[in-house]
Amino acid sequence: MFKRKISSIMKKKQTSPNISKNFMDHDHELCFESALKDFKQHFIEKELKLTPLRLKVFQLLLKDHRPLGAYQILDLLRKDGFSSTPPIAYRVLDFLIEHGFVHKIKKLNAFVACSHPGNSHSPTFMICRKCEKVAEINEKESGLKFNKETSSEFKIEEAIIELIGICKNCTKIEVI
Ligand SMILES: [Zn+2]
Ligand SMILES: [Zn+2]
Ligand SMILES: [Zn+2]
Repeated sequence: MFKRKISSIMKKKQTSPNISKNFMDHDHELCFESALKDFKQHFIEKELKLTPLRLKVFQLLLKDHRPLGAYQILDLLRKDGFSSTPPIAYRVLDFLIEHGFVHKIKKLNAFVACSHPGNSHSPTFMICRKCEKVAEINEKESGLKFNKETSSEFKIEEAIIELIGICKNCTKIEVI
């Protein structure tokens, strides 16, 4: 048990926040497993019910850092033997969004798994327009300073920033 704990801490260190990791070749199996572990942990901590469908939808959204549209999610669920209808899929997505496990990417009208679920935060996304992979970064990493207290006429409740660009991997391909 003790040994396992140490190895998981070490693993976490290896994958620790390199913002462009999502766009590059990386040990995605490790990345997937650690995100899934966090996800399950938050369900226990918040005493939420982890249904097979909630788990499955999160796993689908974690698959390769590419956001999925609601209908793509539905198709994949059906392929995996879930008899889901759009209202059910939307309900699951709403639940996951509400609890901070999933974010909606407005630009793509698609959903992506949160990279640090459970914490309340205003995410900033880097979206590659070529491969459509998405990386979630924090305010510090994005270099965008945003003061939510600036205006007395307008109260900001939520700030979601979407940055469109081209990732390093796709730049390389373009050059070739
Ligand atoms: Zn990954
Ligand atoms: Zn997030
Ligand atoms: Zn790309």
